[in-house]
Amino acid sequence: MFNEWELTGRARTHLLQIDHPRYAIHREVHEPFKAMQDAAQRDGFALHPFSAFRDYKTQLRIWNRKFAGEKPLYDRNGKARDQSVLSLDERIDCILNWSALPGASRHHWGTEIDVVDLTLVPPGYVVQLLPEETQPGGVFHELHLWLDEHIEQFGFFRPYKAYQGGMYEEPWHLSYKPVATLALDALTLELLEQVIAASSLLGKDAVLRRLPELYERHVRNICES
Ligand SMILES: [Zn+2]
Repeated sequence: MFNEWELTGRARTHLLQIDHPRYAIHREVHEPFKAMQDAAQRDGFALHPFSAFRDYKTQLRIWNRKFAGEKPLYDRNGKARDQSVLSLDERIDCILNWSALPGASRHHWGTEIDVVDLTLVPPGYVVQLLPEETQPGGVFHELHLWLDEHIEQFGFFRPYKAYQGGMYEEPWHLSYKPVATLALDALTLELLEQVIAASSLLGKDAVLRRLPELYERHVRNICES
């Protein structure tokens, strides 16, 4: 279903480009996502794809800016960390708490959608995508109660529902299971190693040295429901 270029975010041949709002999504995920949006609409929610497909170059830019200290590194609560005290390996671990390795982002597959409902936020509000927004008292709490009840019937699940040593919890990150499962099985350690070895990733040597461990902890280690 995926070739190596599609799996690692270096091709767009698996995607459908949508306008208004503008995003790209896997061809086979478009219909189920639309069905879920329609159901949400009937219950009073405007399910908005805040982020869907993201390509390899964009993920590489995110990684390199974080590695170079040009962007903050956040802790689990979204507070900026003191970067001056971090060792090389700690820096890599902190980036990986929130951002995938380029080539290994599930957003490369077009099967993943970070969802919000912009009609729920007050004017001028900047969406942060933090767990507190989804919890009681948070702007997206009611939306998440609806998602809890309904995503499964449309084939979606939350791979980062809870922190289990890899990514921090990202309840807004929905994944279309039938297609994402195939992608995860096809994304082997060997393929990821090839892509990273050929990349201009900052910290590449340290990442390659630790790749088997990082692959298990950050790629394979997801919540199953
Ligand atoms: Zn996401």
